Amino acid sequence: MALNLDTRQRAMLAEMHVRVWSPLTAPEPASTPSVAAQSVPAVAVPIVVQRPEGLDQMDWPTLHSTVANCQACSLCSTRHHTVFGAGAPAPQGQVPQVDWLIVGEAPGENEDLQGQPFVGQAGQLLDNMLRACGLSRTAVAGPEGGGLYITNVLKCRPPGNRNPKPEEVAQCEPYLQHQVALLKPKIILAMGRFAVQSLLQHSVPGVDKAPLGKLRGQVHSYQGVPVVVTYHPAYLLRNLPEKAKVWADLCLAMAQLKGRAP
Ligand code: SF4
Repeated sequence: MALNLDTRQRAMLAEMHVRVWSPLTAPEPASTPSVAAQSVPAVAVPIVVQRPEGLDQMDWPTLHSTVANCQACSLCSTRHHTVFGAGAPAPQGQVPQVDWLIVGEAPGENEDLQGQPFVGQAGQLLDNMLRACGLSRTAVAGPEGGGLYITNVLKCRPPGNRNPKPEEVAQCEPYLQHQVALLKPKIILAMGRFAVQSLLQHSVPGVDKAPLGKLRGQVHSYQGVPVVVTYHPAYLLRNLPEKAKVWADLCLAMAQLKGRAP
């Protein structure tokens, strides 16, 4: 029997650590976020369900809808929306044409509510940094290397913005792998420790223990795509003097894109 509880009742039950299970309903796709649905999620999923087979054969829309309905880790029970990514506009059903792929860690509170990556203050800072490089979220690829796409390693928000768990990254990273395979970016900018660890775990021994500062200033690789490491905008908001380092990282990425990296 389905319980018909309003937001206040659910919040009260949550305060009392009473968890309400209800039948699974499909979440809204990230492309049509509903800010109005800013209540405690009505869906609680007691089990995880394996990702569908054939991920590496999926086209862009199928991959998008697969992520929107994913229950492969426990984060599906606490999210409002999955956050697939956003960037250069593309005709319906087609893969965005991009040169840049920006990869962050996981959606935060605002991203979870809106179904979009990098919104709020950190998103504004990222947009400002990109603008300084002549880039924007809505530009398309061109001779000067303009188009970009922004996503995260995890497509669902860890509750309370806690750190991602290894098993969550392991479940979710195949989506990122296939996004990279379809987008075919010319450069990846990895923002923040968890994005860096996830992207470089197979190519940089001991990356999980390496300070991010030691991984900056060089060009790494993920699925054959050059990777430049930098700090996450949320970290920069707390450490504004580090902005100059991020600018240096962006310059390195631009030089790599134009074949002029040292
Ligand atoms: S975080 Fe990734 S693996 Fe976990 S439920 Fe969300 S989309 Fe699926």
